[in-house]
Amino acid sequence: MKHYEYFNTLLPHLTANREGPVASTITPSAAYGYSSAQEAEAIFSGETAKPVYARMGNPTGGKLEHALARMDGGAGAVVTSSGMGATMMVATAFLKSGDRVLCVGGLFGGTYAMMKETMSRFGIKADFCDVDEFDVMEKLLESGVKMVFTESVGNPNLRLPDIRRMAILCDRYGALFVVDNTLTPLIVQPLKMGADIVVYSTTKIISGHSSALGGAAVFRSLKSENEKLEGEKFSDLHTFLKKGKGALMMVLKKRSMRDFGMSANAFASFLTLLGLETLALRTERVNRSVEKVSSLLHDAGIKVRHPSLMEHEHHLRYKALFEDGCGQIITLECGTKERAFSFLNETKMVIQTANIGDNRTLGLHMASTIYRDFEENERRMLGVTPGLIRLSIGLETPLALAEDIIEAWEKSGE
Ligand SMILES: *Cc1c(COP(=O)(O)O)cnc(C)c1O
Repeated sequence: MKHYEYFNTLLPHLTANREGPVASTITPSAAYGYSSAQEAEAIFSGETAKPVYARMGNPTGGKLEHALARMDGGAGAVVTSSGMGATMMVATAFLKSGDRVLCVGGLFGGTYAMMKETMSRFGIKADFCDVDEFDVMEKLLESGVKMVFTESVGNPNLRLPDIRRMAILCDRYGALFVVDNTLTPLIVQPLKMGADIVVYSTTKIISGHSSALGGAAVFRSLKSENEKLEGEKFSDLHTFLKKGKGALMMVLKKRSMRDFGMSANAFASFLTLLGLETLALRTERVNRSVEKVSSLLHDAGIKVRHPSLMEHEHHLRYKALFEDGCGQIITLECGTKERAFSFLNETKMVIQTANIGDNRTLGLHMASTIYRDFEENERRMLGVTPGLIRLSIGLETPLALAEDIIEAWEKSGE
């Protein structure tokens, strides 16, 4: 696990200052003075890198952007007010009316609703397919899909994509490949696997303490040869591409954030930086616990679903491509809504809430909450059954946690 050793060294240093205040400083100012009219012009043209106005970014967020870009090996990052803000920023920066986006795998409820309902109101059509339907992906890409969107791990269906294979397909057909890596920062590195942009809800394990709403998009640098963004499909971005390394920063900020205003605030960025410092430690522990808890629950006869278990359809892919784990989530199939409710109310350790990636274990019945406004067939497609509970494993002792879950399971079946 040299991986974690690397990040345990990198992240605490990236989030601190060597001089003056060691902790990151919070700069809450909305406006920033320019030293002269000439400097104002240079800042607005991008020649001088100083804050313009907080809607376009602030210094605390800038520090977080730098750290996230280094973490993922990206050219840069843009932080946003929420994870949805990050996905919306990427979609609206790169797509326009008449374009098509392909969503692969079981999506987070908010993303699904955004792609299906909201984007369609603006003339952008979304198609959906499963992670293993490579023929469907290829056909749709061939017919002109402009962006492919997937989650590194399906939330909550826990299906695992083959990111490298999808990236090759996207490159072949000149489509932008966006990966939501919210569940697996550090353990999956989408930019190194061929993705163009990574989006995060930093609200989850990156901040880790259920204390700060936030999101981010991390992007790669432009290629000197065969840059697909230079193709006809992306002709409306070509003026930005002359900016070199930071070109995608300009695309994201000027084509979306400036006008939609999903900007991060300094205090949330500060809290997110605090979380980032210990991300590697927490990630290593949680991913070990998830496997341990899954196997203990499985041995107790509970219908638990996780790719580390042999029964999971992507167990071999998990072994081959996700050696450090696939994030905090496991799901329990309770059969009925009644049993699911009874189980959740019986547990002593599980906090019932619509969040994941917290230091404490969280749980939620899916069909009656996040997925309640969806049609039955949509829920089925996203893997949400009437008795499905999602658990997000925290830092607690896995043995005690498993004991609590097993006890609640037994009581709920009485
Ligand atoms: C929570 C979540 C989001 C949305 O993030 P917010 O910060 O709540 O806006 C997007 N994708 C995934 C996978 C998530 O879990």
